[in-house]
Formats: sequence, structure tokens, C-alpha cells
Amino acid sequence: MSAPTPLSAIPFVGFLAIPGSQANLQLALQFQLGQSQWLPPADLDALQSAQLERVVRHAFETVPYYAERFAAAGIRLPAKIDHAFLRTLPISTRDELQLAGDRLTSTRPPKEHGPVQFATTSGSTGKPLRFARTAVTHLNWLVFALRDHLWHRRDFRGRHCAIRFALPGIAEAPHGEIGPNWGEVVAPIYASGPAARLNSAASPAEQLDWLRRQAPDYLLSAPSNLLALAAHAANTGETLPKILELRTVGEKLTPADRRRLREAWQAEVVDIYTCEEAGYLALECPSHEGYHVQSENVWLEVVDDEGNPCAQGRPGRVLLTSLNNFATPLIRYEIGDHAEFGPPCPCGRGLPVLSWIHGRTRNRVTLPDGSTRFPRIGEGEIFASAPELKVRQYVCVQHAVDDIELLVAADGRPTPEQERSIAAALQKNLGHPFPIRFSFMDKIPRNPNGKLEIFISHVHA
Ligand SMILES: [Zn+2]
Repeated sequence: MSAPTPLSAIPFVGFLAIPGSQANLQLALQFQLGQSQWLPPADLDALQSAQLERVVRHAFETVPYYAERFAAAGIRLPAKIDHAFLRTLPISTRDELQLAGDRLTSTRPPKEHGPVQFATTSGSTGKPLRFARTAVTHLNWLVFALRDHLWHRRDFRGRHCAIRFALPGIAEAPHGEIGPNWGEVVAPIYASGPAARLNSAASPAEQLDWLRRQAPDYLLSAPSNLLALAAHAANTGETLPKILELRTVGEKLTPADRRRLREAWQAEVVDIYTCEEAGYLALECPSHEGYHVQSENVWLEVVDDEGNPCAQGRPGRVLLTSLNNFATPLIRYEIGDHAEFGPPCPCGRGLPVLSWIHGRTRNRVTLPDGSTRFPRIGEGEIFASAPELKVRQYVCVQHAVDDIELLVAADGRPTPEQERSIAAALQKNLGHPFPIRFSFMDKIPRNPNGKLEIFISHVHA
């Protein structure tokens, strides 16, 4: 569609619109993003390193974890901080940040950044990480989400649907939840159509039924879920609902899966690379293949096993340094994904290009009737009956349809009664009373690609 016109907050004024204060704030940042995307890489680097300098000094001065970490490595901050110096800072793994606990939070988050709120992410690794965000962090999240919409010229008058992980009781089938507009990313600024969401724990049949009733223009979900819906439709001879664009999020999207999705759904497929801890990491270029790193939000590095930068075309580990979180600064945080940089994009944007992202995968649980669904695994619920266990990691493995093993790395051991409660909670979340056996260990081994996945299925449909 053509560029949308913002809503005006002033009577009799619609063109040019004079938006309200929240819209003005979001649009002021969007205007800057509209300009910064075209800056040459050297200019972007200079602006980014000036912001990184502010974050790193703040972390060094107010975050106990980084102060100790830098001191232990004999690091002193120079008068001027640039990318070359930043590359000498220690890398922090997710395990290390998890262990740091409250020492990861700034003792003096700037009060002008607004209230600090805590969030927990277990990603798909099963290791909860607690981190803080400010109003500034949240504003950035809104603005990059809108950039994605604008890049891909979505028509806000259309209907947006999402099928995503949610806790039990939220947006459950058959009805899901329906909102009047596209939410806080879009609604303060533009008129928008309805938006609905459904808990991804719903079965493929329930999801398709819901989608037929909703008739969305845009559908956001995990690639594996959209593929499972396509497979279900193929098996039952149903036709998939007609959708303008599939928006994929939360998992790796391989080129083969992208092709399969396009063919099955006869729709555009646009992927997003984000994480709870650092927000928007990379967005697909609107005019060429590849993902543009969101350099105004994050410094994204790709490094080899020794921690050296990978050359273009060489895959490596992704490290993140967030530019705008002064409550829980993330500095050279190894998120557990792999990616590779590609050549500059012909579109002319100076934002670096990722040609390949190998994110985390999430497997599906197979039920005795042969159907599959997203397992709901949440440590908060499963181990609620045994808080003193202090679970560090856990992985649920489906070896066969009737054989599920829960691997747990924890300080304590549950009583037989607690074991029964944990098993019951897991059975409830898996959607079937599977027999469950427990294995306790000090540390759960990673799979060959270095990932620790929360649910692994060895059952092949
Ligand atoms: Zn591009």
C-alpha cells in the first residue's frame, strides 16, 4: 500500500496530520530510522560506537557483574571506546548471565529512562534468564516493530492474526483473543484493523478452524507450526485459508522451509529475527534476500570458536550488545544462535546483512494418535510443586510415543510425591498422560550443534 497517513489529534486537521504525544514520540524515532538506514557503514559505526561507549561505561560503573568481570580480566576503560576495544571485552554466555542473577542489574538505572520492569525468558533452552527493561527499551521495541511493518508495506487496514506460545488459559482455542486494532506498535499512530491471537498449543485442526473463521490478511507464527498446518491440510485434503503474508518468528527459517511455506500457503513469507533479551536483531530487506541487522538497536557480532570476528560468508556464534538497555546492559552476550554475514545489500541500506541465521529449533510432541503439537513447557508451572529443587536446566526428550524422559539439573532431588506432581504438570502441558521418567544430572549435555533445546523429539512422524 502507499504510505499510511498518521491519525491526527487536532480537530479539523487531517492532512498534514498532527498526531498525539505517544504517536509523535514513536514517529520521531521512526523518522531517524528512516534516515539512519541509508547512512554509509562507516557513519553508522561511528554513531553506534558512541552509543556503545555510553552503555559500556554505565555497565562498568553500575553493574556489579560487569565491574567484577572486567576487573578480573584486567580491563580498564580507555578515554575513547571504539569497536576495536569492545572486541577485547569478555564474552558472556547465557549460563554466566543466569548465574549472575541480580548482579546483572544496574544499581543506578537512569531515572529519565522510566520505570524498570523485570521479565524472564527461558527461550527454548530451558534456562530462565531474568532481566530488566526500561521505558526507553520498550519504546525502542515498538519502533523497530513498526519499521518492519513499514519496510514490508503492510496494510494496517487488514486483519492480523498470530498463533504463538502462550500460557495455559490465555487465547485458548476455539476462540482465541480478538483485539480491536494492531496494538501499541501501530494503533497510537495509524488506523488499523482487528488483530487476533491463538495459543499455539491448539491442535492443527483447531488452528485451521480458527483461521478459517478469522480470515486473516497477515499471519504470524513459528515456521514449524505453519509447516505442521500445511501438512495437516495436505493429509486431510483441506485447503489452507488464503493469506497475503506469513510472518515467521521464533525459530530458524531454512531456505527449504521458506519454499515449502510459500508453495503450500501461496503467500509471501517474511521472517523476523528477535529475542526477548535484546529486542529486534535483524529484519528482512524489503527488496532483496537477506536480513538487515538493526544496528540502531544492537551491535551484532559473528565470531568463531576463538572469539575472533568471522569473515563474510563464514558462519559463527552470534554475540549481542544492546544499545538502549541501561537497566540490564547486555555486553557481548552469546545468545546461542549461529549466523553469517553476507555482502552489502544492493538496496543501498548501510545496515549490515546477515545472509544466514541458524536459530534455535523447537520440536513438537507426538501424541498416540500420530498428531503433533507444540509442547507447552514452562518451568514455572512444571516445577511449581518443588521450588526448593532450584532447577538450573531441564530438557524433555520424547524417545518414543510412550516414552518421555525429563532430564533435570538441579540442586536437590524431589520426593516421590513431588515427582508425581511434576509428572502430572508436564502431562497436562504435553496434552496427554504420557509415562514420564526422570533423570537427574549435574549438567545437561548440549546436542551436537551446541544447543540446549527444551523439548527434543526422536519420534518421526
Ligand atoms: Zn537491503
